[in-house]
Amino acid sequence: MFLDMARTAHVKGQTEQALSLIDRVLYTEPNNQAAWLLLAETTPDPARRTQAYERVVAINPQTAAGKQAVAALQATPAPPATSAPPAAPAVPADPRPPANADSAAPKQPAVREGRWDCRYCGSKGVRGRDIACPACGHVRDKEVRFYLPEEADEVLDAALLQRAKAGVDWLCAFCGTSNVATAEQCRQCGASKAESNQHQAEKTYTLDQVPRSAKAPKPTPAPAPPPSKSGGCGSVVAIAAVLLLFFVGLGAWLLWPRSSEMAITGYSWERTIAIEELQTVTEEGWEIPAGGRRLSERQAVYGYNQVLTGYETRTRNVSEQVQVGTETYTCGQRDLGNGFFEEVQCDRPVYETRTRSETYEEPIYQAVPIMRTSYTYEIDRWRVVTTRRVGGSNRRAEWPTLNLRDNQRAGTRTEQYIVVLEDGNRRRYELEVSQAQWEALREGQRVEVQTDAFGKPISIE
Ligand SMILES: [Zn+2]
Ligand SMILES: [Zn+2]
Repeated sequence: MFLDMARTAHVKGQTEQALSLIDRVLYTEPNNQAAWLLLAETTPDPARRTQAYERVVAINPQTAAGKQAVAALQATPAPPATSAPPAAPAVPADPRPPANADSAAPKQPAVREGRWDCRYCGSKGVRGRDIACPACGHVRDKEVRFYLPEEADEVLDAALLQRAKAGVDWLCAFCGTSNVATAEQCRQCGASKAESNQHQAEKTYTLDQVPRSAKAPKPTPAPAPPPSKSGGCGSVVAIAAVLLLFFVGLGAWLLWPRSSEMAITGYSWERTIAIEELQTVTEEGWEIPAGGRRLSERQAVYGYNQVLTGYETRTRNVSEQVQVGTETYTCGQRDLGNGFFEEVQCDRPVYETRTRSETYEEPIYQAVPIMRTSYTYEIDRWRVVTTRRVGGSNRRAEWPTLNLRDNQRAGTRTEQYIVVLEDGNRRRYELEVSQAQWEALREGQRVEVQTDAFGKPISIE
């Protein structure tokens, strides 16, 4: 369609428009013979006209267009020497001799060959040195995206190294083709490098940003690490949450009261009274309580004071980090804009742990006793001497009978009331209840009982 429009423009004498339209056709179809022929007929530049005819012949000399171009070339004398050979080899030979092999600097950053994918035929992993796709012949352009596979070997060949370091590819102003820095004419259309005002860009990547394939283009401001980090500990949080939920659920299941019907099948009870007796005892203390009768006194150690008596000079070992130099390491990769990548090197300090001994003053303390008067005295105190206990498996609860002497009295009382319960599986349980409940319940009565998860009664409703 563009070619028809270009032809019409040419016929009408609109040369600029015709050339622009032919340009568009050749950009996507570099081997369109009719387009090259029309270019030859349209361009006012004799050199470019010759190149265009040569392209037509190179594509196929046997067609009508090819024969027409051959005739045109024979009729025209060759232009002055500036023209480039139209059918250039796939890789333009570097005009300079191989680099001097003696670049003995040991810390030269390594150069590696990148790859690119052809977006016309889908070929993957085209070598960085190839400016044209070996599968379909399309040349790479400004949109090409270089990447560096993990396993890329270091480039050691001197000629390739020289090419890698020659600079970025320049882009033909006429057809958009990439050309090696050392080429003076466009490999595709022969246009001069001097007319070009665009070139591929150098790009510097940190190690985690280096493109490893044509896909997944990482944007330079990459907020990638935080999500992946939280993804890692997120699963731990999830496991912890599930475990927590499990244990909370288990606890709730165990503690959740259950109700079941049981029968009252028996009773028991127990009551106790402690018997106290007034006894004269001997005690020692820092003072005599009310009612105490002093027997003797003495000086005793009440406590200690820590008293600073001086200092002692001692030595100890101290470790410290000392910077002993710097080291160079690879911190990134630079896309050289010509199919090759070069290591980016950074410097970082190297530290060493050094131990030295230092002296210091250690304070010396002495424990000095504090003396006080300690009293020995006798005093009358109520002491539990025995406990009276009665009980039975009936409902006639009573208190123990006491026969107290003059120096005795009744102390603490306890009472306990128990019912025996039987569940539907004839299992028996004892349950302590209040005295009022114990007295209200009747033998054989069926009651609603709250139980734990294992059926053990907790209370009667
Ligand atoms: Zn291709
Ligand atoms: Zn070109």
